[in-house]
Amino acid sequence: MQTQQALQTIVIVGGGTAGWMTAAAFSRVLPQGYRLRLVESDAISTIGVGEATIPSIRAFNQLVELDEDEFMRQTQATFKLGIEFVNWGKQGDSYIHGFGLIGRDQILAKFYQYWLKMYQMGEAPDLEHFSINTVAPRHHKFMRPPKDMPNSPLADISYAFHFDAGLYAKYLRGKAEQQGVQRTEGKIVDVAVREVDGSASWSGTQRRPLDRGRGCG
Ligand SMILES: Cc1cc2nc3c(=O)[nH]c(=O)nc-3n(C[C@H](O)[C@H](O)[C@H](O)COP(=O)(O)OP(=O)(O)OC[C@H]3O[C@@H](n4cnc5c(N)ncnc54)[C@H](O)[C@@H]3O)c2cc1C
Repeated sequence: MQTQQALQTIVIVGGGTAGWMTAAAFSRVLPQGYRLRLVESDAISTIGVGEATIPSIRAFNQLVELDEDEFMRQTQATFKLGIEFVNWGKQGDSYIHGFGLIGRDQILAKFYQYWLKMYQMGEAPDLEHFSINTVAPRHHKFMRPPKDMPNSPLADISYAFHFDAGLYAKYLRGKAEQQGVQRTEGKIVDVAVREVDGSASWSGTQRRPLDRGRGCG
């Protein structure tokens, strides 16, 4: 009869961005005592395309304690201030959805209430004129939001990155391995889930034989 045991090993399958992000995060946030293993197969390549991100990627990078300048060098990243939608409303039309705030709220009403009223009267320009994240890229400008100017519109600058997903996985792999994550090269060919606690055992093939393991998939 199967008995419930405390989780000891966590196995992460796949060494693309998803796998190494998970490994890097778990190695930072889980308490001591878990064995973290990542299995990836050289025979199954990663997608390896560029990654277009939104500002929440910065929260993740902070969670796993990446130095932003080093991260940018390692992943060949560029700053991203928003997303351009071409031919979205109609053919020939284009607009940039800038990250971050649009306009400034007033004491008695939200910005959008003022803007909508004036726009309907034909007296307000397009919304993107009120977003620093939209105006700046139109002029090929960028700066990080200054920490010492909280009341300036510059403090509203929000950003993400475009980077090479393959390089990001490689960079995170280095960080995760420093934190004790063990990588195994091999192809998982079978996973069996234990009914008693939902944990999984797995087996695989590789040039170096993969040992059987038990963990949470
Ligand atoms: C053209 C294109 C553009 C994209 N643009 C964006 C974008 O702008 N923004 C964005 O966020 N996402 C984007 N994506 C999606 C994103 O790139 C992928 O979702 C992401 O890179 C996939 O990462 P992954 O780790 O899930 O998979 P992969 O990088 O494919 O990695 C899979 C891993 O699993 C391993 N593996 C598979 N099967 C086994 C097995 N049986 N045993 C052992 N290991 C195994 C492989 O060896 C590999 O390491 C895009 C995708 C494409 C195709």
